[in-house]
Amino acid sequence: MTGVVTTAPGFVAAGVTKSFRLGRSTVQALDNVDLATAGGSFTALLGPSGCGKSTLLRIFAGLETATAGQVLVHDQAPDRLRREHRVGVAFQDSALLPWRSVEANIRLPFQIAGRSADPAQIRDLIRLVGLDGFEKARPGQLSGGMRQRVAIARTLAINPDVLMLDEPFGALDEMTRQRLNLELQRIWMERATTTLLVTHSIAEAVFLSDQVVVMARRPGRVIATVEVDLPRPRTPEILRSAEFHTLCDRLSELLFAQSTEDAEL
Ligand code: ADP
Ligand code: MG
Repeated sequence: MTGVVTTAPGFVAAGVTKSFRLGRSTVQALDNVDLATAGGSFTALLGPSGCGKSTLLRIFAGLETATAGQVLVHDQAPDRLRREHRVGVAFQDSALLPWRSVEANIRLPFQIAGRSADPAQIRDLIRLVGLDGFEKARPGQLSGGMRQRVAIARTLAINPDVLMLDEPFGALDEMTRQRLNLELQRIWMERATTTLLVTHSIAEAVFLSDQVVVMARRPGRVIATVEVDLPRPRTPEILRSAEFHTLCDRLSELLFAQSTEDAEL
């Protein structure tokens, strides 16, 4: 079984530039970024810190506007998709409401969208992220990995067409991260949501993605797109395969080439 990759467009950016004013100077966060992914596909944005990954994700999420260029998600303007509650976004430290239980946190997006939550759907989401039995627990009683599962369940609650994750597992230990990568793949295969994952882990990008977009900094730009045609579902064994390592090597060369460039500056 593979994810449902359609020929419909997913994330599309054409000539996207973003600059921020910082006092009297300007930071060029993104310079002329072109990107096109297919609907239903899983894409990773990989690059060193400061290369504009989060800025690009925030533009696709409709949380920031480009200084120049065109952006479409599923053929729509990002802010329209956001207003229609069709986008799910999760960050590294997605804040859960500490006084609310797991299920009440997951219900939150329904309340924000002015819809009533179907209890069976909340139960399904809790099962989907492997938190059966923790419905009534409060965030303070959960581990970091469990809290990120709640955040992802909450992101999925309104059944978004588009999922954007900004280093969702960045603060977790390697073992937990691998377990959650497996879970994320399973969820994605079940739902076929067009997904964008920001990460600086090469292994995570290869394990999860259909394509990896490699970025460089100063200014933030796309330097390569690498297709990952490993069969799905991907299992932990694939981490030891030659194909997996070849892809990781290629990506690390692309990243390493730019870090020596940085060192010369
Ligand atoms: P990444 O997520 O790849 O680490 P970011 O997108 O967060 O990179 O940042 C890209 C560049 O834009 C960095 O130089 C950062 O300092 C700058 N930047 C991001 N957001 C802002 C902002 N709101 N104001 C000023 N500069 C910003
Ligand atoms: Mg970032």
